[in-house]
Amino acid sequence: MSASGRNIRQADGLLMNIHDPSTGPVLPKDGERNVLITSALPYVNNVPHLGNIIGSTLSADVFARYCRTLNVPTLYICGTDEYGTATETKALEEGVTPLELCTKFHQLHTEVYKWFEIGFDKWGRTSTPEHTKITQEVYLSLHKNNLFRLETSDQTYCEDDKLFLADRFVEGTCPQCGYDDARGDQCDKCSLTFSSPTELLNPRCKRNKAHKLSVRPSTHACVRLDLLQPRLEEWLQKARVKGHWGSNAVITAQGEIVEPRMLGEGLRPSAVTRDLRWGVEVPKTGNEEEDKAMDGKVIYVWFDAPIGYPSITATYTDQWEKWWKNPDNVDLYQFMGKDNVYFHTVLFPSMLIGTGQPWTMLHNISSTQYLNYEDTKFSKSRNVGVFGNNAQETGQPASVWRYYLLSQRPENNDSSFLWSKFIAANNNELLANLGNFVNRVVKFVNAKYSSVVPGPEGFAGGEAVAEASGSDAAATQLDADFISDINARLTEYRQSMEDTKLRNGLTVGMALSARGNQYLQDNSLDNALLANQPERCGRVLLNAINLIYLLSVVFHPFMPTTSEGILRQLNAPARSLPEKFSIDILPGHTLGKAEYLFKKIDNVNGEQEKKWQKQFGGDAHVAEQVNPAGPQGHPEGGAVPKVKDIAVTASKKAEHEARKAAAAKNKKAAAAEAEKNKSPAEKELEAKVQAQGALVASIRKGQAEGDADAEQIKAKELKAELAELRKKLKEASIA
Ligand SMILES: [Zn+2]
Ligand SMILES: [Zn+2]
Repeated sequence: MSASGRNIRQADGLLMNIHDPSTGPVLPKDGERNVLITSALPYVNNVPHLGNIIGSTLSADVFARYCRTLNVPTLYICGTDEYGTATETKALEEGVTPLELCTKFHQLHTEVYKWFEIGFDKWGRTSTPEHTKITQEVYLSLHKNNLFRLETSDQTYCEDDKLFLADRFVEGTCPQCGYDDARGDQCDKCSLTFSSPTELLNPRCKRNKAHKLSVRPSTHACVRLDLLQPRLEEWLQKARVKGHWGSNAVITAQGEIVEPRMLGEGLRPSAVTRDLRWGVEVPKTGNEEEDKAMDGKVIYVWFDAPIGYPSITATYTDQWEKWWKNPDNVDLYQFMGKDNVYFHTVLFPSMLIGTGQPWTMLHNISSTQYLNYEDTKFSKSRNVGVFGNNAQETGQPASVWRYYLLSQRPENNDSSFLWSKFIAANNNELLANLGNFVNRVVKFVNAKYSSVVPGPEGFAGGEAVAEASGSDAAATQLDADFISDINARLTEYRQSMEDTKLRNGLTVGMALSARGNQYLQDNSLDNALLANQPERCGRVLLNAINLIYLLSVVFHPFMPTTSEGILRQLNAPARSLPEKFSIDILPGHTLGKAEYLFKKIDNVNGEQEKKWQKQFGGDAHVAEQVNPAGPQGHPEGGAVPKVKDIAVTASKKAEHEARKAAAAKNKKAAAAEAEKNKSPAEKELEAKVQAQGALVASIRKGQAEGDADAEQIKAKELKAELAELRKKLKEASIA
């Protein structure tokens, strides 16, 4: 036994290997299972809402943590997607450079994910030299393989902004119904869609109606998805079998292609360049005519964004190709919302196939449906509900948020975020089930055994088996049932997690804890058991403590901080996920002190629930009044704050209050100062104006005699006189 009072079974792979970054990057090992994980890159120009978090980053984090509990080399990569029209235009509007804007927003995202305890191995961004280099290399490989075609078409150009306008920045008159505020891609009144804003009558620049627009031809490079489709389909059929895909928006589990764009005539060549400045420059191909046509253009954001996965990895290690060009040794798992499936199963794989290089391709795709808020939508452009940066304003810990969101993970259908269920999840599940089990056992051992784990001396541990408990056959049977139930659930847990059915994994985890509570009840753990059957009592506690050790690893992916709290109480190091329930904390081991894992949320008469509903919008009506949908809302996410409003270090609310207080103070001081400096003539005249105004009011209310209209004229004359006097005083003070 060590000085720390620990007595833990020694076995290869029993503990979790925790990577020490000072020893270098995590790299895959040849001939072993290696897991590369990505979550959809959040668009930098917005605040992630809970729907984004549950679908992408949180889900991927849970899976990455699960893989680490298997001691499998695991790399989880994500970052902000920064290029494109929306960023460039917003930066223009706010008078900052796109890079400045991205840097601030990147920081905002960083803080949200940090609060949610998302454990990226590398959290990066796409505006890096590595990203430019790899994107241009992919482009040039496709070019070399004759997979581009140049197409010229008319585009709307703003002579004042000196740029081609993306569809969403053009407005005009609908040629069909005459509606004056039709958007560049669609008329909101008659729903006619336009293939180009040049179809609008009287097109205007959305930034400024006075700007002069013209139509200019522009040439773009289109990637030949039509030529790539046969190879893409061949890959899809193999990948879905190898990675055990379920049905998704592109291909069913039976291999039937259902993506409309791939049916009929199939995929069309698709433009991958844009007339923008904020993006990856189109590289020179060596073809003079073509390079001239592409001069000053950038690569379109859907083409460069997925290359962010390898390029962010390249900012983590210069050996990034060991992860990304190693299809035989690396399994790539990608997490995203359902609206991103096409990009990850069609566009990105087509690009990679087109390079002719041995890229690590998608192994398993995990996509989620939408998470709705109360009775309205999260996942649309409206700013409704709780956003990533408000979760902490509730004062509830990240573990509870993670647990609740994951327990509602919309795996097969849309699901709903409800405050009532959030509170119930904490009080009735986490606290009553898991918290209670851990607390009851640790407290009992603290109090009755001076924290020393009971059990037969010199017991070697290992796989749990029901040992004959003397002549007590009933007790032996209780243990046998307990062990077999735990093992059955452990197997189900592993299977669910391997299939990225994270919600079920969590449910099974809670069932394991509930089985522990039942075991204590079946054995009537109490003082009487301790007094009358001390040996039996010790055995029950030894089993219970080792179930708690198992729970620490089962819940590690979902609630890392809670898992740490359990380990602290057990005085044990983080363990790996075993295949079978085993006795690894041995008799004689000293536990830590009992502490509460969860805190009850008081909700008398549903008051807390109502409070949060009010704070964050409880129904669509209220929420829309508070935060109307804006044209600046990115289709993926919530309202977009102004760069200057992003306070990344201090609390936003506190800063706002401080600003307000300072402004009020200044105003008061200014008023007092002005009062002090007034001349007697000004003060006298002010008094007259006030008295005359009161007289007019009294007459109108019938409280005084007189001709209201005549007195009103007098009041106006007095006011004019006062204004004249003030003007003179001001001129005098300036002179
Ligand atoms: Zn119309
Ligand atoms: Zn303009």
